[in-house]
Amino acid sequence: MVSVEILAIGNELLIGDVLDTNTHWLCRRLTGMGAFVRRAVLVRDDEDAIAAEVEGALGRGTQLLITSGGLGPTDDDRTLSAIAKALRRPLELNEQALVMVGQRYRELHEQGFVDTPEVTPSRRKMAMLPKGATPLFNPVGTAPGVWLTEGETAIVCLPGVPAELKGIFEHSLPPYLERVLGKGAYAEQTFEVTCRDESVLAPLLKTVADRHPEVYLKSKARVFGAEVRINLLVATTATDKATAEARLRAIVDDLIVALEPHGIVLIPQASEGEG
Ligand code: ATP
Ligand code: MG
Repeated sequence: MVSVEILAIGNELLIGDVLDTNTHWLCRRLTGMGAFVRRAVLVRDDEDAIAAEVEGALGRGTQLLITSGGLGPTDDDRTLSAIAKALRRPLELNEQALVMVGQRYRELHEQGFVDTPEVTPSRRKMAMLPKGATPLFNPVGTAPGVWLTEGETAIVCLPGVPAELKGIFEHSLPPYLERVLGKGAYAEQTFEVTCRDESVLAPLLKTVADRHPEVYLKSKARVFGAEVRINLLVATTATDKATAEARLRAIVDDLIVALEPHGIVLIPQASEGEG
């Protein structure tokens, strides 16, 4: 499975001003694509702190590192300079990125949202990318995302504004991500279990889980007033959707057989969908 790390950057996250919803969204989305998110970290807008995390991810042999935040025009946006530093590459003007930034500001000017369409020095900063990087078109905001590779590691930089992060991820990133993730697939199903006592359920689940090591099985106690009901999640990743779904069916069949003698029933729940 492809190992992924997420690095959410921004002082606002660490002073508790902004909740880091980007990591949550990326974790869910990447897991849904069959990737294995093994680590996620929050750091301040600090070049050395960001560079240290990038070096760490390279050292751990992470296949995909995704950063969020710090791509904007202001001085405290240091993600790309930190990555350049970690990779010992210069930051240089990327012509393709410059065209993207220029085009965006012309549109914003035509819409009356900015006073000038000119690519000022602070706007030009958004087109300064580490050498060898490819800009990713931002369909929502001004700063392009960034794609680059270093050895076996792919690094993707996305803006902090959630709509921009999602916009680039869904619109511009898919062909690049496919190179790393291949066609990984994920399947999950949630059940309500008619058993009030998790201590009764746990050993039964363990017996089944041991026979299906490729499936993630998680029970969560849920309180309904005085009663306790238990939610059960079964999830798996595979190289294709059909295999993932077949694995789920196999473990569910096994669970039904194991729980039935104890009068315990699995009630399928509607899936939550992607947030
Ligand atoms: P911009 O081009 O808008 O400056 P940026 O890449 O520089 O984008 P930041 O300045 O780091 O992004 O963040 C912009 C805003 O996006 C923050 O003020 C915050 O509201 C939101 N934001 C940043 N990081 C996150 C996050 N991890 N989760 C949710 N929201 C975030
Ligand atoms: Mg910013």
